[in-house]
Amino acid sequence: MSADQLTALLAAVGAAPALPGARCRGKHHLFDEAGKNEAPETADQRHQQALGLCRLCPALASCEQWFDKLHNSKRPHGVIAGRVIKPRPAGRPRKDETA
Ligand code: SF4
Repeated sequence: MSADQLTALLAAVGAAPALPGARCRGKHHLFDEAGKNEAPETADQRHQQALGLCRLCPALASCEQWFDKLHNSKRPHGVIAGRVIKPRPAGRPRKDETA
C-alpha cells in the first residue's frame, strides 16, 4: 500500500494519524500485496524489505494503533504496520461483508 493510498484510507475512516517520518512513503512497490502474476518468491522478497522498513519506522507505534482499530473487513492488504496482510481465501462472505 502506498503512502497516498494509506492517507486516503485513513481519511476515509476518519482516523488519520500523522505518521511522521513514515518509511513507506514513496515505496509502495515494496508494500503492495502480491500481484496476480507475481512469483510468490518475488512478493516475499519485496515484503521482507518492507517489513525491514516498518521495523525502523518512527511511526510504527501510531501505525499499529490505527491498524488494530480497523475492522478486519477494512484492513488493507500488503505490508502495513510491520505485518503482511493477505486477502482472505475466496468462499462464503462473512456476515459483515454482505449488503
Ligand atoms: S510502520 Fe510500516 S506501514 Fe506503518 S507508516 Fe511505518 S513504514 Fe508505513
